[in-house]
Amino acid sequence: MRKNLVVGNWKMNGDKAQNEALLQSLSTACIAEKVTVAVCAPFPYLAQCQQVLDTSCMAWGAQDVSEHDAGAFTGDVSASMLVDFGCQYVIVGHSERRALHGESDEVVAQKARQALNAGITPIVCVGETADEQESGLTHAVVSRQLAAVIDLLAGDTTSIVLAYEPVWAIGTGKNATPAQAQAVHAQLRAQLIGSGAGDVPILYGGSVKADNARELFSESDIDGGLIGGASLKSEDFLAIIQAAIEV
Ligand code: PEP
Repeated sequence: MRKNLVVGNWKMNGDKAQNEALLQSLSTACIAEKVTVAVCAPFPYLAQCQQVLDTSCMAWGAQDVSEHDAGAFTGDVSASMLVDFGCQYVIVGHSERRALHGESDEVVAQKARQALNAGITPIVCVGETADEQESGLTHAVVSRQLAAVIDLLAGDTTSIVLAYEPVWAIGTGKNATPAQAQAVHAQLRAQLIGSGAGDVPILYGGSVKADNARELFSESDIDGGLIGGASLKSEDFLAIIQAAIEV
């Protein structure tokens, strides 16, 4: 059985004092064995995550990683640097990075490979824009994005986490319905099975809240969530974690 995974994506939010309060309340909350919980923080706060969460049952990670090992890449952060701060996860290919930083499918795949080489689990994001959805291109877009990762990683695909995040649902309050999300997840699952990686957890992300999490997580191919805005308030995030535990 796949275990539910709930990951918070803080994006470029937080400060030392706010993070301290949020991490403390999450770390002291009772999290059952049935769910794995992680937060992905901005780079400067990874040391703070390590300090506060080290003895907790929560994991932490980053929101991006360089596709290179080391060298003249000003402003970039390598996978081995993330290891130094205890990261177990890194988000790669978030739609904001694809759109705002021009990351191609191939660059996203290279980032996933860097993470795996360093022993970090990449959370590979795929998802279609509103225009693509309206043009009936959802399946074509997400399978192309996943195929780039499968091709580059070959046999290593079993160690990734996949996140389906429709771009039109991110930060908009307009989540995919459970049936809509399940249909895409089932297609992604079939593609993963075809590459020998059928057990890869597939998270749903895009306006997951305490009041829709349970319904989404109940779907057979939704193995948890990647949570943006609602991961910034401990009460909301804990309610989503609880939904993952109870389904
Ligand atoms: C995200 O950015 O990964 C995300 C899912 O955001 P939100 O939950 O705020 O829609």
